[in-house]
Amino acid sequence: MTQTFAACILEHRRQPERARPALDGAWICFGHREELARLITEMPAVSDDLTRANGPGGPRPPGTSGGITVDDAASRHRSHIAGVMASWARLVSEERGITPPASAAVEHTAVWLTVHVDWIAAQRWVDEMLGELRQLAGRARGIIDIPARVCETGQRCLQHADGERCEGTISIVVRGDDWTARCSACEERQDATPYLRARGRWVTRDGVLQLARIAGIPCSEDVVRQWKHRKRIKAKEEGGVTWYELGSVQTYLANRRQQEAARERIAS
Ligand SMILES: [Zn+2]
Ligand SMILES: [Zn+2]
Repeated sequence: MTQTFAACILEHRRQPERARPALDGAWICFGHREELARLITEMPAVSDDLTRANGPGGPRPPGTSGGITVDDAASRHRSHIAGVMASWARLVSEERGITPPASAAVEHTAVWLTVHVDWIAAQRWVDEMLGELRQLAGRARGIIDIPARVCETGQRCLQHADGERCEGTISIVVRGDDWTARCSACEERQDATPYLRARGRWVTRDGVLQLARIAGIPCSEDVVRQWKHRKRIKAKEEGGVTWYELGSVQTYLANRRQQEAARERIAS
């Protein structure tokens, strides 16, 4: 086989044996240049997603366990991302003899590096940089992604069709702090709130216990009191009844699940 063009130096998943022409003056093909540009421009968003994975911040109460939580893993990875992006920016600015980005913050380095994508594509180390950025994004996804949890509630579907109430029963699907209801019969994704013993955006202590059971987080009346006391979940008193804000409970439970997932990853 004769090649009249310089081939992309990277591997290609589809038809790996077929050589891809590198862009003019570059070491990589069009597709890989696109991937490189995307990884760079999306890195601030990836970093933001890790912040969100931290959940609502605030000081950790004294005396809580010192185990490694997803918070630590996420914030460590955020600094790692910032460090790697800054070091590539430094390399480019030194080799090109130009002013480096205004700061080492990923928002600055990403925008700055985007301008130099074509120059980077023409450097022999472009494969190293692309590999490193892929790893950063992949590891971030691993920290952010929590497997969905499906919990059968035994409740009857509230949907109606042709004047008949649906015969199906409802499972709640929890993915992070996203809660949806799924019916066994009508297969439609529904808002979970009507099935969560909520009154509007507020639930009673029994409601919190039900939510914790659905999320798979061990809980008891005492534990609910502690969460409230530590301001992990929002509460208000009304006529002698304590109401808990649904969103704050869902977010807190999502956080707890991430922590468990991170612990399992570390243990395995
Ligand atoms: Zn390629
Ligand atoms: Zn249904």
